[in-house]
Amino acid sequence: MKESSVILFNQKNVYCAKSQKGYGRTHFAKHNFQAGNIVMHGFGKIINHQTKHLSIQISPKKYFLPTKWTGKYWNHSCEPNCFARTRSDGFPDMVALRNIKKGEEITYSYFMTEHSWSALAVEKKISCLCGAKKCCKRILSFSQLSEKQKNILKKRNLISLYLHKT
Ligand SMILES: [Zn+2]
Repeated sequence: MKESSVILFNQKNVYCAKSQKGYGRTHFAKHNFQAGNIVMHGFGKIINHQTKHLSIQISPKKYFLPTKWTGKYWNHSCEPNCFARTRSDGFPDMVALRNIKKGEEITYSYFMTEHSWSALAVEKKISCLCGAKKCCKRILSFSQLSEKQKNILKKRNLISLYLHKT
């Protein structure tokens, strides 16, 4: 996909504002979505390492750097309303996991894209502020999940394609 079409698509679907949960800016739904709808497209410059914050993993050794309208404000929740699905160009889409109402905050789980945390990763050191009833209190990467959790995510196809092979 071209960056310009990614941005146009995302701006039609979400708006950007400060989170109520105290972790900075985030996206909110501009209209209702049905489960299975694509809510946002991800896109960005490809790099070969995880950054302190904001990089998104797309293969064992590839990451991308999203900007404001291409994934920078994709926030984590332990009870997300979206999941990650790899596009044919390798970047992830945010897809509605359930019906989403206009005005809802768009969230996914970082373990749907991140295999593990580098020593620098901010997410590794902070406690989770998602506010979900079943919050893990920590933001986990895919490798930190139990085998049972990993298998459920694989079976339901809620994670980046490359994670199926890990
Ligand atoms: Zn949480």
